Amino acid sequence: MTIKKSAPTKFPVTAFVEEGPYYKTGSPERQVIADENVPGIILTVEGQVNDTAGKPIAHAWLDFWQADGTGQYDNEGYVLRGHQYSDKKGRYHLETVKPLGYQSRSPHVHVKVRAADKSPILTTQLFFPAEKKNKTDFIFNQLSVMDVQRTKDGDKAVFNFVVET
Ligand code: FE
Repeated sequence: MTIKKSAPTKFPVTAFVEEGPYYKTGSPERQVIADENVPGIILTVEGQVNDTAGKPIAHAWLDFWQADGTGQYDNEGYVLRGHQYSDKKGRYHLETVKPLGYQSRSPHVHVKVRAADKSPILTTQLFFPAEKKNKTDFIFNQLSVMDVQRTKDGDKAVFNFVVET
């Protein structure tokens, strides 16, 4: 009789969601992408970047961009745009405002994530639970909905990424 070894747990890579028209390269390195002049409810997003074995990835690159609380992107400058690197435990932390959906889109935060320089780039969009437009937005993906708590200090969202290394 042969005893089969169980396969190691493999976590699925975070769902791809299209880049859309407003990505710009060259974003500044920072965790705070909104200042007090940007309209919108305060939003913090945090979580972890892991590999498909569930191991945290230190120094993963995350590049965020999004609309403000009125649905506007800054296409001239870098307001609501910024990249950062995960810490030693794979954690990231973003301080921003909650974006408003525009046209047919439900509210979303765009992000690209890469484990290391030569790794594939994951492009996705992070969504909010219980948004009306989630039902009608063709780009919406249930797999990239964040956990969001409303607090007196704004919305606190959590999302963990799984990327290929
Ligand atoms: Fe967008």
